[in-house]
Amino acid sequence: MLGLVETELFIGGKWVPASSGDRFDVLDPATGDVIASVANGGEGDAMAAVDAAAAAGKAWAATPPRVRGEALRKAFELMTERAADLAKLISLENGKALVDAKGEVTYAAEFFRWFAEEAVRGEGIVSTAPSGANRILVVRQPVGVCVLVTPWNFPAAMATRKIGPALAAGCTVILKPASDTPLTALAMAAILAEAGVPDGVVNVLPSRSSGKVVSKMLKDPRVRKVSFTGSTEVGRILLAQAADNVINTSMELGGNAPFLVFADADLDAALDGAMIAKMRNGGEACTAANRFYVEAPVAEEFSRRLAERMAGLVVGPGTDEKTQVGPLVNEDTVAKVDGLVKGAVEGGATAVTGGKRPGGPGFYYPPTVLTGVPGDAPILREEIFGPVAPIVTFGTEDEAVRYANDTEFGLVAYVFTRDLARGLRVSEAIEAGMVGLNRGLVSDPAAPFGGVKQSGIGREGGHEGLLEYLESKYIAVNW
Ligand code: NAP
Repeated sequence: MLGLVETELFIGGKWVPASSGDRFDVLDPATGDVIASVANGGEGDAMAAVDAAAAAGKAWAATPPRVRGEALRKAFELMTERAADLAKLISLENGKALVDAKGEVTYAAEFFRWFAEEAVRGEGIVSTAPSGANRILVVRQPVGVCVLVTPWNFPAAMATRKIGPALAAGCTVILKPASDTPLTALAMAAILAEAGVPDGVVNVLPSRSSGKVVSKMLKDPRVRKVSFTGSTEVGRILLAQAADNVINTSMELGGNAPFLVFADADLDAALDGAMIAKMRNGGEACTAANRFYVEAPVAEEFSRRLAERMAGLVVGPGTDEKTQVGPLVNEDTVAKVDGLVKGAVEGGATAVTGGKRPGGPGFYYPPTVLTGVPGDAPILREEIFGPVAPIVTFGTEDEAVRYANDTEFGLVAYVFTRDLARGLRVSEAIEAGMVGLNRGLVSDPAAPFGGVKQSGIGREGGHEGLLEYLESKYIAVNW
């Protein structure tokens, strides 16, 4: 199957080698073996991609919204037809279990379907000025050339969540995928071309010099937006660079999701929710439950039952159909998880299950539950990005909310209680862009996804996702 995946840069509708001739290796996280070699885009290639996107911009913006939408709809259909192969590809380069990869393909394709429908909804406003002197006419226009930068943890969905609304709005794009997972992005480029997206509208630029190529593009005045999903650290760098030319930014950054279980919760539902919120993608999700706060009367039972379920998961190569938890993406990630767990245990926590990195090849870490985690442990402050659930006990609702908000992040939170008034009160009090109330999964292409505080700026998905790629032009008019 890998022989069918393009490994060159995709610029102006053509597959081209890097101008330097450089290539870089993509590894299989299950073995550490090289599975492909991909063209390594440099600054000159980045400029060629901006040229192509700028050249295609006018015609694409003028293409009827219905036609733009139909290309996205076709891309949705092609992704759905090829779901099995795409899932294998994701699993191969990212390591995630096939079951997660299949879920990702469905989720990713839905962004194309949703934004196929949103393409025709770029409505403006007509109103009368309060003074009565004139009319206020607001029209929506595409932002222009957009640089899209995506992470490795959802190599398909993070790309379609940006490409879908950008194309629906009439923007052209250069996608710079994570260098651990460029193959899925290249497969998406081929699908979009086959779906009828004109040359230059979507360009894909894998690179091992991500900092340099993105920075080069952001210095070009033709680029009018950067949409980034990744770490808060890199988000800060891009925000600073975007300031130079005062360009639009959308930032989907790191999370540190609290998962609150009140004593009146349906514990079965809370455990099901915990398994999804923690273990979707093996814990490598910005939405992953990072800290569990459980009310004292149910803390022992919740911890014991969560540990039983975590211990029962089948760990193995992502591409094996039986696997429920694949390896982590690379050595750095598994070393970080291992360090956080060791630190918590040294500080007094107990590993009820897991807690030890296995020997042998591949970047594996076992599903782990920690109890008695000290309040100042780094594992409660940092994004774990692995299959580890640290549990802390709380006494009162106020304390639970205080713990939940004790972080610079604010992407998502999960709350489990049978008391709806409490559920809504706590949901309002928590500083996060999204809340799963009695639910361990919030991601939905039809809903605005995004964070507050240092988890980001802007929203992806829903109607808000389309507006991120449109400028409002106000025309004061007399008639
Ligand atoms: P990352 O290190 O920030 O990398 C993300 C992307 O930025 C990659 O394409 C990377 O390229 C590129 N990059 C790295 N340094 C750059 C620079 N100086 N200038 C421009 N681009 C640069 O994040 P990651 O480790 O791939 O992903 C994990 C992070 O993403 C987590 O923090 C997670 O929470 C976050 N995330 C957030 C959301 C959300 O919606 N809020 C969703 C998914 C993930 P290379 O691969 O070449 O380094």
